[in-house]
Amino acid sequence: MRVDVVTVFPQYLAPLELSLIGRARQRGILDVAVHDLRDWTHDVHRTVDDSPAGGGAGMIMRPEPWGEAFDALADPANPPRLLVPSPAGVPFRQAMAVELAAEPHLMFACGRYEGIDQRVIDHAAAHMPVTEVSLGDYVLFGGEVAVLVILEAVTRLIPGVLGNAQSLDDESHNAGLLESPSYTKPAVWRGREVPEVLLSGHHARIERWRRDQSLLRTARRRPELLAGLPPDALDAADRAT
Ligand code: SAM
Repeated sequence: MRVDVVTVFPQYLAPLELSLIGRARQRGILDVAVHDLRDWTHDVHRTVDDSPAGGGAGMIMRPEPWGEAFDALADPANPPRLLVPSPAGVPFRQAMAVELAAEPHLMFACGRYEGIDQRVIDHAAAHMPVTEVSLGDYVLFGGEVAVLVILEAVTRLIPGVLGNAQSLDDESHNAGLLESPSYTKPAVWRGREVPEVLLSGHHARIERWRRDQSLLRTARRRPELLAGLPPDALDAADRAT
């Protein structure tokens, strides 16, 4: 997958060199390029913002550098999917991560200040698929952290990135439920025991226990997830839990 990130703070994306994303890049699974939006300005101050039309507080990102950046990075014959982080976007969920993991080319436009002139997004949408995407119902300084979050969620779904792809199967949000609690050694720590069933070696009992814990945890913490499951997602044993 190719990824282009346009930002006024390229250094903010330095963590993309680290850990499993860094390794995916080294292995050629991910080809990430981080671009400085100011490279597409033409004045001595490398200006990217201006006062809001109609007045008001803060500054808005001017359209011209964004337009030039997209012209340079998006192949009109094979356009990328453009993601624009915004608190006014659609909420980012695991289902979107799954969708994005199948894209050959993603481009991110990181807003700063009070955001990007809307014409940038409207113009881009005439040439490529565009999604304004929100991390959650709060406001950040800029879109860079959203890019790091989205790319982590997406990259781990790309085949070959995780050593054991099976670890994705029971994860929270994979099948609409939260994962059951996890334990490791020692069997007793500060008087707290690993649940006996997990040490039993009885595979079917362990699976049932994990499923029950997953259902109970979801019901307690995120009842709306349970309510949103398709009717055939729960069998009779699940309903008994
Ligand atoms: N004035 C904008 C509003 O009220 O919708 C907020 C602008 S915010 C200070 C600056 C930038 O941070 C946004 O353009 C966006 O790129 C990013 N941002 C802030 N909160 C975000 C969120 N919850 N999800 C994704 N991106 C966010």
